Amino acid sequence: MFNLVIFGPPGSGKGTQSDKIIEKYQLKHLSTGDLLRAEKRSGSELGKEIQRIIDNGELVPDAMVQQMVKAFVEKNKDANGFIFDGFPRTVQQAQWLDQMLPDFNTSVSLMLSLDVEEDELKKRLLSRGAVSGRADDQNVSIIENRIQVYHHQTIPVMDFYKKQMKYAKVEGVGDIDDIFKRVCLTIEKYMK
Ligand code: UDP
Ligand code: MG
Repeated sequence: MFNLVIFGPPGSGKGTQSDKIIEKYQLKHLSTGDLLRAEKRSGSELGKEIQRIIDNGELVPDAMVQQMVKAFVEKNKDANGFIFDGFPRTVQQAQWLDQMLPDFNTSVSLMLSLDVEEDELKKRLLSRGAVSGRADDQNVSIIENRIQVYHHQTIPVMDFYKKQMKYAKVEGVGDIDDIFKRVCLTIEKYMK
């Protein structure tokens, strides 16, 4: 299996590049944000709780996302590999993932980080909000809170994979297909 953690701040293009990567390399896309939004739309009690957290730009508790991740991996254990998009978002989640994947005889192959500066992120998120209707993409103070949460809780996950020599950074600004070319070159270096 080839397991990719796609990393970067909100609006860095993780979802966009993931769609292209899964098509080319036949990986399963595990976007915890998408799974959480699906639960939110179901209108369940849990969904309402999730909505409150997402709409404040905070993080859903580790145990809750970990349960979703494990169920997804279990259901797709015959896959060629996974793209973890939006997860792990805390060092605790990264440690958990490192302990969980060996149960499926596999491990993280690479963390690929999309590098995009903050002004560009805000522009992209606001224009996504205008078409997607995502409340967390429409309000500047929620966006700023998400970027803060990213700096405080998620950036440390980078060091976690750097120490394992599984970290690579790709320039995330420019034409989507040019970014994808850089992404593929990086992935293929680690596939061997
Ligand atoms: N979220 C979370 N844990 C996750 C994934 C998402 O708490 O593992 C919540 C969090 O509130 C985040 C929101 O869902 O701000 C949107 O996440 P997503 O990854 O979809 O957004 P992106 O960072 O791609 O814009
Ligand atoms: Mg996303």
